[in-house]
Amino acid sequence: MKEFCSGAPRCGGTPKVAAGLAALLLSSAACSPGDDVDGVERRESHVADVFDSIRTQAGTFEDFLLLMPKGGDLHSHTSGAIVTEKLIQWGSEDGACVNTTTFAASNPCAANTVPLSSAPPGSALYNQVLGAWSMEGFGGPLLAAHQHFFDTFGKFGAIQINDRNDDSYANVMSAAGRNNQIYIELLQGFGSGAGAAIANTVFQPTDAWDQTTLLARRQQIIAHPNFAPAIAAQAASIAATFSGARQLLGCATSSPDPGCNVEVRLQVAANRTGTRVAVFGQWVFAYELAQVVPEMVGVNLVSPEEHPNSLQFYNDEMFALGVLGDANRGVVGRNPVHVSLHAGELIPSVVPDPSHLTFHIRRAVDVAKAERIGHGVDVLGETDGDGAAALLRKMSDDHVMVEICLTSNRVLLDAAGDDHPLARYRQDKVPVALATDDQGIFRGDITDEYVAAVVDQGLGYRELKEMARASLEHAFAQGESLWKERDKFKRTVDACHHDELGSATPSMGCSSFLADNKRAALQWKLERQFADFEVKTLR
Ligand SMILES: [Zn+2]
Repeated sequence: MKEFCSGAPRCGGTPKVAAGLAALLLSSAACSPGDDVDGVERRESHVADVFDSIRTQAGTFEDFLLLMPKGGDLHSHTSGAIVTEKLIQWGSEDGACVNTTTFAASNPCAANTVPLSSAPPGSALYNQVLGAWSMEGFGGPLLAAHQHFFDTFGKFGAIQINDRNDDSYANVMSAAGRNNQIYIELLQGFGSGAGAAIANTVFQPTDAWDQTTLLARRQQIIAHPNFAPAIAAQAASIAATFSGARQLLGCATSSPDPGCNVEVRLQVAANRTGTRVAVFGQWVFAYELAQVVPEMVGVNLVSPEEHPNSLQFYNDEMFALGVLGDANRGVVGRNPVHVSLHAGELIPSVVPDPSHLTFHIRRAVDVAKAERIGHGVDVLGETDGDGAAALLRKMSDDHVMVEICLTSNRVLLDAAGDDHPLARYRQDKVPVALATDDQGIFRGDITDEYVAAVVDQGLGYRELKEMARASLEHAFAQGESLWKERDKFKRTVDACHHDELGSATPSMGCSSFLADNKRAALQWKLERQFADFEVKTLR
């Protein structure tokens, strides 16, 4: 079995809880597992008190947060999630080279490059590559950081991530497992460029961008002779990736990596720097891929939201996604395909036309029917419809969740502290959950996001736990929720109502419900983890 942890933050397994924390925990009142929901809340309240007493003790509260169950990471770009040292290692093993001025990788090696294998860890070149391919040590101003971040993808792009799919998944799953998460959703292109290429051949320059035309072009794309083979090849590739990753993680052995405990689901991310026709073709591909790959559960839209094409085609793409969603829902027996969209990841200094700060989230929700919003940082500047307050009310009423990426927003948008809308989202009862975005490039992990939520946003244990629960409540994993009322984690569905929350031996009715509903099963598992964690904390 390969080593997944080298170079990664939080390597070396689960840390011992610091002595100070242990002493505090020992002095706290204890409850036993098997409480009803009221009992669970009492236990939670005691743990919240413990957390409040350690939250200013550096080291101690981070250990607490590492051990805390954190549900799912719903916003993780595979290529940006991989630990940078791993990318350098794979490039070295695969014979890739690097330009010593631009630090762009190439394979086959381009002119004026040297083999990555000539840059051993610790060498000056290695450190330069590490800095060029991630935010490690970056100290420039905001816009330079913004540019440096998006440039990294092009620099390490030739490391053949697609030929290292199983290694990539093993790396990301292991990180999630070590940080006590049980679920991740990964965003990638998944070969959807094939759909874009076909779309470019079937659309005519005179085509209207209306429902009739889009549905006709969709049929033509699907019927194209290149389409079905591309779907089949991608489905086979995904199956091989999962199987390879589990093998690398030793999931069938007696000492499986913590990553084996992590359920993975996928979203096809269309590239918004392309034309609206290309994005449409990618999404058509995504909807069909989701019919044959059970792990494929959603669509998204990535790359800089301020790119000229992103801005020019924003409304057209929202419209197109609405059309594709309606078409999918309109046919009985089709697998559901969920929608999460990067929207409102903008600041005035990067948008030439400030009007774009006023409607992106609103249109993603209203027109594209987004169930989740990635970032949503500029929400308070939205004026479309009846303005920001009305938008927040609608997101709360419709349970549109926001994927909160605190590190990413601080580094790329300078949105932190009171300048971040997290408190407002919470105040307006919009569901939120923490996510990593690109943890490899940011040199962090999900625990760091929890730390930021405490230090930068002042949240306590109860709020963190609510976000961990929200992450699974809004996961695109198949099936119904464990909870009877959406986003109210008070009462479970009738099938499990008489069971101890998270019990290892649920009743027959509850077991049957959990077996039929993967999302509820994950939520049940999370409640088990919370019970264990809280009881141990109070012991
Ligand atoms: Zn993102």
